[in-house]
Amino acid sequence: KQAPDDMDPATWAKVKDHPCYSEEAHHYFARMHVAVAPACNIQCNYCNRKYDCANESRPGVVSERLTPAEAARKVIAVANEVPQLSVLGIAGPGDSCADWKKTKETFSRVTQDIPDMRLCLSSNGLALPEHVEELVDMNVDHVTITINMIDPEVGAKIYPWIRHGGKRYYGVEASQILHERQMLALDMLVARGILVKVNSVLIPGINDEHLLAVNKEVKRRGAFLHNIMPLISDPAHGTHFGLTGQRGPTAAELQKVQEACSGGANLMKHCRQCRADAVGLLGEDRGQEFSLDKLPEALE
Ligand code: SF4
Ligand code: SF4
Repeated sequence: KQAPDDMDPATWAKVKDHPCYSEEAHHYFARMHVAVAPACNIQCNYCNRKYDCANESRPGVVSERLTPAEAARKVIAVANEVPQLSVLGIAGPGDSCADWKKTKETFSRVTQDIPDMRLCLSSNGLALPEHVEELVDMNVDHVTITINMIDPEVGAKIYPWIRHGGKRYYGVEASQILHERQMLALDMLVARGILVKVNSVLIPGINDEHLLAVNKEVKRRGAFLHNIMPLISDPAHGTHFGLTGQRGPTAAELQKVQEACSGGANLMKHCRQCRADAVGLLGEDRGQEFSLDKLPEALE
């Protein structure tokens, strides 16, 4: 398959076998996630810490948490069974960069055995800038940042606090720092040739009208894809937007925002909000077949 007319060959080489970046590839190539990074450095109002990070994964799901050594065993077992496996992602269950040591150790253990595995991670962006050089060294070529706002006043309704540099920040000040770090991370990654997908969670009444501005800004800064995902709201999974809870968007509301943004960064519409330990083609999850108790014994 040839590169589309509007894509340069270097970018095409990075997307053609990545199921999340190419609508075409998601039918043929598989990805897996390992849930090795439980810590997080911010609080999103839609998060419940009992479950996976809601920024990349389907909310309300508890993934099998693994140590980096267990994760590497699992990846190798899956690679032996699933020949289409091309991508290993770390998307939580907390934040891959807040729990950096575990993320890094997992990637280096896996690439020792499978050097051509493509690596990607997703993050809220706060602790991303300080790891960009290491990501380049590890050949990570895809990163997802969840960006729900570019205006800290909007952010203050989404993020009650962040933890940064050993200190906790609240309200607009917290969102101002988060915003600056997200933009810095995006700029640094783009400058280093790493493809960036931006995820935005559409929260009706909070950032629905604002996402067009987010779309323009991330496109201007060079994001490759923008994925607008619906808030999946279920009181049992905890959304803390006030006593009455916060509803998710209707299909029509989601479509309206996606249409308004369609002239901006490429929109991703085939995202399945997969869980933090998903295995398989997008839209398919064979994670249960490869849980730790079903893997061969470790050799070490
Ligand atoms: Fe939860 Fe993810 Fe937000 Fe952290 S970044 S608070 S894990 S939804
Ligand atoms: Fe990477 Fe996200 Fe796709 Fe997982 S869902 S493979 S983290 S882009």
